[in-house]
Amino acid sequence: MRIKIRKNDVVNVITGKDRGKSGKVLRVFPDGKLIVEKINFVKRHTKPSQKNQQGGILEKESPVAISKVMLICNKCGKPTRVKIGSLQNGKKVRICKKCSEMIDEK
Ligand SMILES: [Zn+2]
Repeated sequence: MRIKIRKNDVVNVITGKDRGKSGKVLRVFPDGKLIVEKINFVKRHTKPSQKNQQGGILEKESPVAISKVMLICNKCGKPTRVKIGSLQNGKKVRICKKCSEMIDEK
């Protein structure tokens, strides 16, 4: 599967407990999972350690499957699917299927 979502994209969650929320992509893994800002937060209990004196509960994003999110177009602001187009210079760009605008810069 070609990964059509990249770091710093804004995505909308379409399924699961965070459905309807959106956030910025912080990290993309090669297996098609994403870390999205403030999405899929899990609480982890940490033990006191030298680094973290107090211990306690740490909230941290955990990976979300790419199939559970849709890219939000930075041109029309809607969750959309993308198609890949090529420019005359051969560069590949992502194109919004809703408004047909290029999502990536030339
Ligand atoms: Zn669009």
